[in-house]
Amino acid sequence: MRQALAQKEFRLAYQPIVDLRNRRTVGVEALIRWPRTLIGPDAFIPMAEKTGLIRDITKQVCLLAAEDCITRRIPGSVRLSINLSAADAETPESVELLSNLSRALGGAILNVELTERCLLAPERCGPVIRAIRALGIQVHLDDFGTGYANLQSLVELALDGIKIDHRLTRCLDDSRAAREIVRHLGRMAGTLGFSITAEGVETETQARWLSVLGIHRAQGWLFGQPRFVEDYPALRSAIKTN
Ligand code: C2E
Ligand code: CA
Ligand code: CA
Ligand code: CA
Repeated sequence: MRQALAQKEFRLAYQPIVDLRNRRTVGVEALIRWPRTLIGPDAFIPMAEKTGLIRDITKQVCLLAAEDCITRRIPGSVRLSINLSAADAETPESVELLSNLSRALGGAILNVELTERCLLAPERCGPVIRAIRALGIQVHLDDFGTGYANLQSLVELALDGIKIDHRLTRCLDDSRAAREIVRHLGRMAGTLGFSITAEGVETETQARWLSVLGIHRAQGWLFGQPRFVEDYPALRSAIKTN
């Protein structure tokens, strides 16, 4: 991995996030890829977290995102989401990285996605997260509904939103309980003023349930696979003609 970093072997794939009311792309999430090896991030990111290499990877992710200028390929006001690991959320250097990326985006909104594991050391991540938000960057809690879902941190750290995990999305068709949870999350979001994005939407019925339950932002194969920047315009027209 260290060698791959030096040789710039990593790339970013971007997956659209759409507004369910009109199916327009309102943002993209950057997802790291290691094309030469075909090893997925679910395998190598945890390894990078264990070895401490993750901070260098995150730095490269920020540089790649700035280079790709993905937000300029999409008309309208689009946001770019970047994933951070716990080590990133605990180091003040991340603030500078994100500040530089935000500037490079030139007007587009930057979001960061944190998992609950990032919030385990509030005394370290709290100041970093507050500094990130002070830059006008939004902070969203990823994989919501999988762990010891931390509503308290949403309030304490004044996070901007949550992403409903694909494992919960997948249950929408068959589980009334899942639908009730999502309905209540939607209501709570309205009252407490945070946003909700549903991940892993693969079918029209899931998309319809989300709309019915008051969730308007979604991401998943139904709307588009993660694609490299050079493939992005094609993806866009594919969405439009659907
Ligand atoms: P994540 O942040 O929860 O990203 C969503 C994952 O769901 C992505 O997997 C995406 O390709 C996949 N996905 C998207 N639509 C669908 C769908 O409709 N159905 C299903 N079943 N899956 C869908 P991916 O790209 O393999 O990334 C896996 C995880 O690796 C990410 O989960 C994230 O935790 C981590 N990761 C990816 N890129 C980065 C990165 O740049 N930095 C860090 N720290 N972590 C990253
Ligand atoms: Ca994510
Ligand atoms: Ca997620
Ligand atoms: Ca995940």
